[in-house]
Amino acid sequence: MHYEGTVIRPPSEAHSIILQVTLGCSHNRCTFCGAYRDKRFRIRNDEEIGRDIGFAGRHCRRQKTVFLADGDALAMPYPRLRALCRRIRRELPWVRRIALYANSRDILRLDVEQLAELKELGLGRIYMGLESGDDATLAAIGKGADSATMIEAGRRVRRTGIFLSVTCLLGIAGKDRSLAHARATAEVLNRMQPSQVAVLTLMLLDNTELGRQARQGVFRMPDRTGLFRELQTMIRGLELRAQFQANHASNYFSLDGRLPRDRERFLATVEQAISGALHLTPESQRAL
Ligand code: SF4
Repeated sequence: MHYEGTVIRPPSEAHSIILQVTLGCSHNRCTFCGAYRDKRFRIRNDEEIGRDIGFAGRHCRRQKTVFLADGDALAMPYPRLRALCRRIRRELPWVRRIALYANSRDILRLDVEQLAELKELGLGRIYMGLESGDDATLAAIGKGADSATMIEAGRRVRRTGIFLSVTCLLGIAGKDRSLAHARATAEVLNRMQPSQVAVLTLMLLDNTELGRQARQGVFRMPDRTGLFRELQTMIRGLELRAQFQANHASNYFSLDGRLPRDRERFLATVEQAISGALHLTPESQRAL
């Protein structure tokens, strides 16, 4: 299998065949994200992708799912993506589902019928980065979409029945907007009704604009208690029937379950974290 640079995939795709069909991210402007700073966005050609599918056909017969990397494979032109899904079905017939990262702009380029056709061809899961439901925060971090656009994109995916996993980022609004961010994020998620919410905690990276703003004192992270109160406010505001995971390596402690079933257990754990009764992941062991 041929990979260029660092390949990033969601934790739940750990056992998937990773096909790097695009390189980097077509947006690449989020101020907190250092994932693809060193990569110029490009869609790999059919020959390159075909060689990797051939490799998977010979060596990955036990892996039942495919993840299309890098940052937003949905940026591929629709006819090519459709042909790619058909090819995966033809050449890797044991694969049960295909997944990818997508941003709201690329989702909204497709109508419901096109998304439904991709679902028919195996696209079963889309991971979308919301980060925040707060418009001021979305603008400040250069996300390239406001909350209304995010909601529309999320709803469009859900109308097709594709599993929608949405990522939110604790700390991304900074200290002053922390709770406004938590409330607005819960509100946007409620209107979107994703299948899964994944909560990560911001890590400031040296190679990012937000890292630079933090060094200059322009951006101030909430402290740990502030981050936990942000999570508490978010959970209290959520009215979802969805998987809820805050078990990424960037978090100080782990939550994993379903809403609304596990809400009280989650809130009790967050309360323990606030009171100092919970073991927290040491700073040195947090990771992206
Ligand atoms: S957060 Fe996502 S959309 Fe933003 S630059 Fe990084 S990969 Fe691209």
